[in-house]
Amino acid sequence: MLLQAYRCPPDPAEVAEAYVMETLAGSAAAAFEEHLLTCASCWVAVGKADIFAQAMTAGTRQVCAAKP
Ligand SMILES: [Zn+2]
Repeated sequence: MLLQAYRCPPDPAEVAEAYVMETLAGSAAAAFEEHLLTCASCWVAVGKADIFAQAMTAGTRQVCAAKP
């Protein structure tokens, strides 16, 4: 069994979202990034958060493009 960089955060989805939105503090982001390499469930959470973030960005772009 692989050693984990640190245990899963209490709310992986929330941390994953902060990581994707780049609102995690530098050291926390680095630690979470390292943890991701060993944790499939957090990796999945990041994937979901990434899709969500991309959808939000796309939606924002459409709203901006609609303005004159
Ligand atoms: Zn994890």
